[in-house]
Amino acid sequence: MYEHDVLVIGAGLAGMRAAYTASQNGVDVAVVSKVYPVRSHSNAAQGGINAAMTDRGDAWEDHAFETVKGSDYLADQDAVEILSSEAEHEVISMEHMGVIFSRDEEGRLATRAFGGQSQARTFFVADFTGQVLLHVLHEQILRLGVRVYEEWFVLSLIMEEGECAGAVVMEMKTGDIHVIRAKAVIIAAGGLGRAFEPSTNALICTGDGMALAYQVGAPLMDMEMVQYHPTTLKSNGALLSEAARGEGAYLLNSEGQRFMERYAPNMMELASRDVVSRAEQTEINEGRGVDGCVLLDVRHLGEKVIDEKLSQIRQLGIDFAGADMAHEPVPIRPGMHYQMGGIKTDVDGLTNVPGLYAAGETACVSVHGGNRLGANSLLDTLVFGRRSGEHAVDFVKSKKHANIDDSAADPDREQIRAMLARDGGGELFGAVRRELGETMNNHLAVYRDEEGMRTAFEKLSELRARYEKVVVHDKGKVFNTNLIFTLELGFMLDCAEAIILGALERKESRGAHTRTDMPDRDDENWLKHILISRTEDGETAVDFLPVKITQWQPQVRSY
Ligand SMILES: Cc1cc2nc3c(=O)[nH]c(=O)nc-3n(C[C@H](O)[C@H](O)[C@H](O)COP(=O)(O)OP(=O)(O)OC[C@H]3O[C@@H](n4cnc5c(N)ncnc54)[C@H](O)[C@@H]3O)c2cc1C
Repeated sequence: MYEHDVLVIGAGLAGMRAAYTASQNGVDVAVVSKVYPVRSHSNAAQGGINAAMTDRGDAWEDHAFETVKGSDYLADQDAVEILSSEAEHEVISMEHMGVIFSRDEEGRLATRAFGGQSQARTFFVADFTGQVLLHVLHEQILRLGVRVYEEWFVLSLIMEEGECAGAVVMEMKTGDIHVIRAKAVIIAAGGLGRAFEPSTNALICTGDGMALAYQVGAPLMDMEMVQYHPTTLKSNGALLSEAARGEGAYLLNSEGQRFMERYAPNMMELASRDVVSRAEQTEINEGRGVDGCVLLDVRHLGEKVIDEKLSQIRQLGIDFAGADMAHEPVPIRPGMHYQMGGIKTDVDGLTNVPGLYAAGETACVSVHGGNRLGANSLLDTLVFGRRSGEHAVDFVKSKKHANIDDSAADPDREQIRAMLARDGGGELFGAVRRELGETMNNHLAVYRDEEGMRTAFEKLSELRARYEKVVVHDKGKVFNTNLIFTLELGFMLDCAEAIILGALERKESRGAHTRTDMPDRDDENWLKHILISRTEDGETAVDFLPVKITQWQPQVRSY
């Protein structure tokens, strides 16, 4: 058995920011990650991080309002105020830690425009911002001597007398299963993108953190709010960053029209993501698409700007769409990108379970509501990663470890033994995973309706039944990826359940949840969060919470 004051699950930006803060505040903190830290999905973030800097004549209140409007008024405004007002400090802190942000001609930190915002307030490092932030934070936690359990896989959370007391973890190199006892656990395990197929997310984004919390009764909130990003490649779902449109890219239909002028005449290509994705999908559905896509055109920016600021996505277009954006438009379409919902927390990261915190994409504070603005997620990971780290430190100072020992891992040992013992001609995890992803992408995408969502729910029951019989062919202990992928599928099935239940519950259209059978927003009945949780007897329960409104009353949303 291992033991720490604070255990952070996840070594992405949220997890490492939380660990950095907790460690600096003098408690014993450890991080566990199923991949080497800098392989976390934060590494893939291209476009940048938002902050309203006062010396640019920008105001955090404007950033906050645009975030609230972008959320289709579902975000909690007290949380958004914290996000925006702490952004400047957070970005400068990262700069001081060693992040070399791109600079403008005067030598100041450069900004680019991002969707849904009237000011260019997105700070960036070319088109690999997340990679640089992540590497710098990794260096910092190594400097502080934080213990990192690399390539260890969390199987479950340990509950003792109603509080979270640690986690059961598999060391992937040996297959050994251990208990890590902790006074507080911070889940920072990232998103669930791969419950959809295709997705912009890394293959490791399987919603483990949300499912772990769900399994111990912590509610998941706003799970129906799944973001489809407007510019993804058809072949493999890879993302072409919003930075392209930030730098001035056009979206064209098969008739060569900049069609956004009909949907968002003021903001055009830089309207909020849900608005642009719906516009594209409508063009495609009404026959003005090009082979199931529309076109992203950056040729007018010139090769020099493209190479300086968009080199990574130029290469992605060449490799995966056979199109060099310096010379021709690239076919793109809306694709699953981000989960706005997640484990319900307060503004200090605390969930409904004492001792259990969550931050980053796995959490729902909620600052993104029905639709996240581009470049607000990196900010969310850092601000609320830090706050959960700070708050967990206060919590553990007056706390003793729970009275648990190594036997707390026995139920997981038994479950895995039984899973490996299944044999015969049963199917592997792969087909179930693919069918889950395709079902979600067919029925819980840009446009939804009752019938499609019910079909998805029925399919999910079938997939669950098949999952119970899935065979793990590799019976070995050393790096058994067959076993790990199978366990991840279990987590994804739980996440899918919460998404579909939330979506069926919400009888209106708001943000990313657009129902063709209920096309209007209904503030009178649905200006509220939907919470899905699992009760002790394994049933699901639905609850509601009012949206917290501070300064901005809901208005009609147009761009
Ligand atoms: C291609 C792409 C581009 C993006 N670009 C931007 C952008 O420009 N700006 C922006 O604001 N947002 C962007 N986003 C969104 C943003 O990058 C993510 O939401 C954010 O980085 C998530 O960070 P995180 O720390 O919450 O999780 P992640 O970085 O995903 O890290 C999750 C961690 O949890 C660990 N983990 C998960 N499950 C387990 C388990 N069972 N056991 C042990 N460890 C586990 C993983 O090993 C990993 O270390 C982008 C997302 C994608 C996919």
